[in-house]
Amino acid sequence: MKCIVCVKQVPDTSGKVAVKEDGTMDRASMDTITNPDDLNALEAALKLKDATGCEVVVITMGPPPAEGMLRELLARGADKAVLVSGREFGGSDTWATSYIIATAIKKIPDYDIIFCGRQAIDGDTAQVGPQIAEQLNIPQITYVQKLDIEGDKVIVQRQLEDGYTVVEAKMPVLLTAIKELNTPRYMTPKGIFEAYNKTVQVWGFNDVPVDAEKIGLKGSPTNVNRTFSPEAKGKGIMLEGADKETVKTLIAKLDEKHLL
Ligand code: FAD
Repeated sequence: MKCIVCVKQVPDTSGKVAVKEDGTMDRASMDTITNPDDLNALEAALKLKDATGCEVVVITMGPPPAEGMLRELLARGADKAVLVSGREFGGSDTWATSYIIATAIKKIPDYDIIFCGRQAIDGDTAQVGPQIAEQLNIPQITYVQKLDIEGDKVIVQRQLEDGYTVVEAKMPVLLTAIKELNTPRYMTPKGIFEAYNKTVQVWGFNDVPVDAEKIGLKGSPTNVNRTFSPEAKGKGIMLEGADKETVKTLIAKLDEKHLL
């Protein structure tokens, strides 16, 4: 059995978010982390490794410094790491990104499950996982909160707003993980030591057989038209007291805003 985990390096938005004059995020001046959902995706694969001894390959498309993130994931227990990196890939929208990642995955034979995070905390589209499945023509199940394997099938609980559905699919399959799926493990000293003896494979434009017309800005069917920060809302109104007058005022205010 083999699991591939797609991981994205994202700016750490838990601290101060630096914004450039044009309204876009100033990524260069911010620390980076592994996208949180992707750690749940990796943990799910590592749990399968614990249970079955399967191989776990992590893959990212990103700039050269993303190699540091991959080493961290090797230290958590991944077996192999692939960094897809090249100037030609820059400017890709989600469709072009998933095309590049799917093409790279085709070079990794005999996988059973591709794990992705549900969503990246910077781009926030939740499109890349489903698009990779589409490009590879394999089934996908998103919002996975529980996973079981039975023979050649996955049986998952797929989270809904007010409950869940149980869905099964034959492998190979792509699953997108949410934080409810598990608690990611930490690196171990042994893992850190071993991670530096492992090779991170770097695949450039010439290693991934993509059509140059379908990648980068020119190969992207969508482009960002405008980026803006929403206007700050006015200060809220605090009503204090539990008397009839306060309740009347509250009802009037809600009515004014057509909320009743
Ligand atoms: P999501 O779809 O929210 O991520 C879901 C999951 O997919 C992740 O949890 C992870 O498992 C996987 N995943 C996502 N990205 C990667 C990755 N890179 N490697 C491995 N796994 C991954 N970016 C630029 O740098 N330059 C640009 O010019 C540019 N132009 C863009 C134009 C448009 C219209 C759009 C929509 C995006 C653009 N981007 C650009 C951003 C780039 O397309 C996204 O960073 C990328 O496609 C991931 O999308 P997302 O962050 O929404 O991820």
